[in-house]
Amino acid sequence: MSVSEQLEAVKEQIRAACFKSGRSEKEVTIIAVTKYVSIERAREAVEAGIEDFGENRLEGALEKYEALGNQVNWHFIGSLQSRKVKELLHAYRIIHSLDRKSLAKEIQKRSEEGQTTDCFIQLNVSGEESKAGIAADELAGFLDMLKAYPAVRVIGLMTMAPYTDDPEEVRPYFRKLRELRDETAAKHLPHAPCTELSMGMSNDYHIAVEEGATYIRLGSSLVGSE
Ligand SMILES: *Cc1c(COP(=O)(O)O)cnc(C)c1O
Repeated sequence: MSVSEQLEAVKEQIRAACFKSGRSEKEVTIIAVTKYVSIERAREAVEAGIEDFGENRLEGALEKYEALGNQVNWHFIGSLQSRKVKELLHAYRIIHSLDRKSLAKEIQKRSEEGQTTDCFIQLNVSGEESKAGIAADELAGFLDMLKAYPAVRVIGLMTMAPYTDDPEEVRPYFRKLRELRDETAAKHLPHAPCTELSMGMSNDYHIAVEEGATYIRLGSSLVGSE
């Protein structure tokens, strides 16, 4: 299927989820995750009108950026090694995987005076050992620590839910992330407005939207997986 056709199907699901939960579709930004696909396919997504793109490895991320440039917004969604921050920051100014102090420190070091990078703090709300992210009870301390790194601007929270055949099972994790977001936003921290929620992938985005997602990250269901 063409990206346009897939996009229509995705938008239909978003509309239904928004209707069910009393939200506006305008609150939901679709990130096309192009890590599995070619530059040609990514270009097709640009032509279909998608304005936000996600990559999870430095090499692929830079390759896509070089091909498509600044006409779209680039989101880095994968685990990030500190030594790769320098190269990445030229192109990617939205990072969904902030999960440790050393990364914040590196972003600070590689930023020019007054320059900020929009970050999501990645949380492991399900407690699965294989998943990256900080635990919910570490969030307050983590936010406090980040005050020392003004180049890092916390715009929201991100999570990856466990994969299940029944996406209903992940609803509690999305709900938990929303509660943590609400608690953080209510603190009105200057370095962490924390208004956004990056959650929901191909398998479970309809549930994530019902639970308040403002960014959903779609690979296979939108651009495909090969
Ligand atoms: C690959 C990936 C996605 C997209 O996965 P799909 O299931 O293909 O939609 C979303 N988020 C992250 C962090 C990923 O690595």
